[in-house]
Amino acid sequence: MTSILTTRDLTKRYGSGSTSFDALRGITLDIDEGDSVAIVGKSGSGKSTLMHVMALLDPPTSGELIVAGENARTLSGARLNALRNRTFGFVFQQFFLTPTASVLENVMLPLTIAGVRPAERRRRAMEALERLELADKAKNRATDLSGGQKQRVVIARALVNNPRIIFADEPTGNLDSATGALVEDMLFDLNASNGITLVVVTHDDDLAARASRQVYLRDGLVVAADEAHSLTGAGARA
Ligand code: ADP
Ligand code: MG
Repeated sequence: MTSILTTRDLTKRYGSGSTSFDALRGITLDIDEGDSVAIVGKSGSGKSTLMHVMALLDPPTSGELIVAGENARTLSGARLNALRNRTFGFVFQQFFLTPTASVLENVMLPLTIAGVRPAERRRRAMEALERLELADKAKNRATDLSGGQKQRVVIARALVNNPRIIFADEPTGNLDSATGALVEDMLFDLNASNGITLVVVTHDDDLAARASRQVYLRDGLVVAADEAHSLTGAGARA
């Protein structure tokens, strides 16, 4: 299998001096194209930080990061943005929908950023909405939807660019279990039928078990499954 994303000894330090915090302390990972990977660990273990760094939203402090064959650390500005925009789709709580914009406008956003012309934008966004069974909501404002419908719009937006990787950070976190299960099914279906690599951060063991691979984090390091859950051990804090 070819690797779509590789990290070597990746670190992330927040702040500087006495208030600095090492959120990632040397992460080495190879993610194969078409794989599904769950990133699991307790709150504060560095899951979101790792996701943001891998997704080119936040620069690492040190280490290597190769995305779709490109050395992301040597790219900057427009080239980094372009690589992110054409390679990734995001299902993140903090990139939620623009409430006053229509569902269609929200889904078109990545295409607008990519400079796709309006007619094509509309066509591809409608196609994504149809796929998520939301075509009838295209003209609604995003605020008028239920939580589960909003999350499906977020997925439609994540796939409108035909990304190679979808990053999802706690995609079912704010949903009731039935709706969460539907959203989960959609993400795994995109992985299985379109070969889109899925990288999903979750607290949910059942969701994690559906991924073909689990990466356990503890205190900014990849550890064995039992170490991630235990209260004491190599990475424990005093
Ligand atoms: P997780 O997603 O696993 O809950 P995060 O990646 O959000 O963990 O955070 C990892 C650690 O880094 C936490 O201790 C958190 O407090 C710290 N952290 C996260 N973001 C920042 C920031 N912007 N500044 C300082 N510390 C941060
Ligand atoms: Mg988090």
